[in-house]
Amino acid sequence: MTGSYWIETWGCQMNEHDSEKMAGTLEGLGYRPAASPFDADVVLLNTCAIREKAEDKVYHFLDRLRPHRAARPEMIVGVCGCVAQLVGEGIRKEAPFVDLVLGPRAAGKLPEYLAGAKDARGIVDTTLYQDSILAGTESVRRQPGRVKAYVTVMEGCNKTCTYCVVPATRGREESRPLEALLTEVRRLAGEGYREIEFLGQNVNAWRCPDTHAKLGDLLRAAGRVDGVRRLRFTTSHPLHLTSDIIAAMAEVPEVSDALHLPVQSGSSRVLQAMKRGYDREKYLAKVNELRKCKPELALSTDVIVGFPGETEAEFQETLSLVREVGFDQMFSFVYSARPNTVASLMRDDVPFERKAERLMELQALQREIQLAGHQHLIGRTFEVLVESRSRRDAEEWAGRTRCNRVVNFPGRGLAAGDFVTVRIVAAGPNSLRGERLDDAREGAPEGKIALA
Ligand code: SAM
Ligand code: SF4
Repeated sequence: MTGSYWIETWGCQMNEHDSEKMAGTLEGLGYRPAASPFDADVVLLNTCAIREKAEDKVYHFLDRLRPHRAARPEMIVGVCGCVAQLVGEGIRKEAPFVDLVLGPRAAGKLPEYLAGAKDARGIVDTTLYQDSILAGTESVRRQPGRVKAYVTVMEGCNKTCTYCVVPATRGREESRPLEALLTEVRRLAGEGYREIEFLGQNVNAWRCPDTHAKLGDLLRAAGRVDGVRRLRFTTSHPLHLTSDIIAAMAEVPEVSDALHLPVQSGSSRVLQAMKRGYDREKYLAKVNELRKCKPELALSTDVIVGFPGETEAEFQETLSLVREVGFDQMFSFVYSARPNTVASLMRDDVPFERKAERLMELQALQREIQLAGHQHLIGRTFEVLVESRSRRDAEEWAGRTRCNRVVNFPGRGLAAGDFVTVRIVAAGPNSLRGERLDDAREGAPEGKIALA
């Protein structure tokens, strides 16, 4: 029996892409997308457990679903992803109407469980299956147009950062073979995708199980695939970002000028307590090495404030590192104690209010840095990959530079996936405004398009 489905997704790109693979699996079984979760025959919640707040959202969603499930008992509700892995059977105690609880590495069992769902309600599968069961599954890509596509290169994470729940929810690292990845990249490029983003929680540690090729080799090989115009990879761990990966980033023109390199803290004492494996100086040395090889590189990062015991002086070290590096973008979080992590047992004497103030201070600084950095770009010209049309104005488009900066610009006769040349005319902290040079050339009076 098939019908319609809805997948609600929280969390990182890995979760987004897992949802694309689950959608591919469901469509392969004959299910079609529903107009809303409340009308669907199968509703899957692909959840994130990285912070407590992320987990709370899942229970709120289940509360909203409850009356619809009561009215239509044939509806199948599944909780998947990291909360499923972490809480397991506990989810059904909180919400007994949930039919399936599947950890991230059990999602490949969906066809089997759905086939028997009528009599097999109440399944909890949190096995950390060793073969990448979802990897390579035909996905239903959620990005509009054929612009960007994710490719999972590895599952799991072998690091032991003391605050992090991911190793418990996603299991040990398992890399996919080089040839399988290249086949997927060739297929996507053939379908017209312009940008490929390789995904792994610790993507720098990818290693082909057959040939022992490393990430640098994968980047070089993927760069040679016809039709691939931009290559990205995330998330990089500073300790595993080898000189060979940096050399490949510089050698392969398709590798974007943007890198996400989470620092987490600017204090060496805190980094040690987080067990990140590098200190402030090593992180800054890595940034220097990167910028020598790729001078245009835009860096983004993650920062946690209020880690247990973080002093005022240590927080100031984070602010000074952020100033020194001048990140292009930052994702910042207040530390959230997660079950069964080493950090959750540490003494934490920083009141939550002070942590929240630190976050606001850090975010205000980052906004200033981003605005100043963006203003510096006014007058410069960039290649922009067109992503989407504005919902409000049919002649307004948004795209991204090779540095992954968002540019909004007016344009006619465009489609998602086009490359255009845009000159920056204005800047805000989160995006740039540009004018399309090739377009301007057609109708504008001479001189208007002179390059700065
Ligand atoms: N694998 C990546 C890495 O090594 O940085 C990212 C993992 S996680 C999905 C994304 C970000 O969430 C982390 O970089 C960290 O800043 C943040 N994070 C993880 N655990 C956290 C916690 N317990 N409290 C607050 N933020 C956390
Ligand atoms: Fe978590 Fe650290 Fe692994 Fe990233 S590298 S997923 S922060 S344990």
